[in-house]
Amino acid sequence: MANSPLRKLQRQRGNTLANIMISLVIIAILAGGVMYGTGSFGPGKSSRKDGKGTTVLGATKAKAQDTVCQSNLSQIRQIVEVQKTLDEPLPATIAELPSAGSLTNCPIGKEAYQFDSASGAVRCPHPGHEAY
Ligand SMILES: [Zn+2]
Repeated sequence: MANSPLRKLQRQRGNTLANIMISLVIIAILAGGVMYGTGSFGPGKSSRKDGKGTTVLGATKAKAQDTVCQSNLSQIRQIVEVQKTLDEPLPATIAELPSAGSLTNCPIGKEAYQFDSASGAVRCPHPGHEAY
């Protein structure tokens, strides 16, 4: 009775279950490594000035928000350049610029952008964004 069809089926089921469990363990280990640590287990140390992004996903999110901030500043500068060609004085705040909309704050720290209405210069006060 050792090679009955029922025994064969049970052995195959056992192998399939073992394969699935091994796959799940491997997936869990890989996902844990990607989502949690930056190197060793646990949150890593951020290399950023603002201390954001201690995990791989967190660092990716912070990097994306850096890009949004750069894009915001670029758009504000373009609006300022257009405004300058109109021979009208620049408004006192960014919010008063036409079509500035929601471009008034840094997406990471929510700090308001600093605007010099005399020169039209715009900068972000968030740590690490000074050069944007
Ligand atoms: Zn910023």
